[in-house]
Amino acid sequence: MDVIQVQDASVPALGLGTWQLTGPRCRETVQTALEMGYRHVDTAQAYGNERQVGMGIQAADVDREDVFLVTKLDGGNRSARRVRQSARESMNRLGTDSLDLLLIHWPNLPWMPALSETLGAMNDLVDDGLVDHIGVSNFSPSLLDEARELSDAPILTDQVQYHPYWDQRKLLDYCRIHDVLLTAYSPLARGGVLDDPALVQIGNRYGKSPAQVALRWLVQQPGVAAIPKASSREHLDANLAIFDFELTDEEMAEIRSPSKAKTGYHYLRSQLPF
Ligand code: NAP
Repeated sequence: MDVIQVQDASVPALGLGTWQLTGPRCRETVQTALEMGYRHVDTAQAYGNERQVGMGIQAADVDREDVFLVTKLDGGNRSARRVRQSARESMNRLGTDSLDLLLIHWPNLPWMPALSETLGAMNDLVDDGLVDHIGVSNFSPSLLDEARELSDAPILTDQVQYHPYWDQRKLLDYCRIHDVLLTAYSPLARGGVLDDPALVQIGNRYGKSPAQVALRWLVQQPGVAAIPKASSREHLDANLAIFDFELTDEEMAEIRSPSKAKTGYHYLRSQLPF
């Protein structure tokens, strides 16, 4: 497993996404993933599965301090009081004394407390030793810039949708200049990459599936981590097996094709629940 050095953190380049994993299935999947070698787990208050994620971590034969554990603040928890309270509630559910990374899940909407208030309280959690790093999710480059200005603690990552059909070059350029990790969510375009002819063809050269090529394409970009969700042992295993081959520059460019990004964007928009 490659590890990305960003600021003072070491972040495993591949994590386990847990959105839509619930109940015993969630606990078992987290446990299996950790025992296979995953060391980065992504959850959120909004996923309603922190308790099962925590149970999976405890059941696995892995030290808690070896797992990079991420959760995210829900929209109703953006006031200073709720940031502090709800982060502690998340830690209780996750069965941990501290979080490796706490994110703002989506930008604060106009009727929510100001971003400065949310970030201020997240900074307090860092000062109190309850949270190692803070970050944001679904922030544009300009909003990320504002967050960096408002926060004393560095913003470790912007977690955004990123895969071959979603162009994030502008954000990636910004992140590289300012030493911010880009964490790619929905890295398989929620299954959209699986029958992509270009990915199939490239994968055939290496004996890899289109999903593995899409993940390799992401983690081969400096400063990018990916957090695919997988629930079968077969998919968990396949997604880990992306560190034993390397795409050529031509293949990297082919996968990034702008015409594909446009087609895929429209395809994917129709699949999104918002
Ligand atoms: P995704 O990871 O792009 O796709 C998940 C789908 O791909 C599942 O149906 C999974 O099937 C399948 N899959 C996984 N590995 C595969 C493989 N090797 N071959 C074939 N199919 C495979 O989509 P996602 O769940 O939207 O995104 C991943 C994670 O990102 C989420 O779980 C969540 O943690 C995070 N996320 C964050 C935000 C945010 O706003 N910050 C938004 C969305 C997602 P099985 O489950 O059957 O294995």
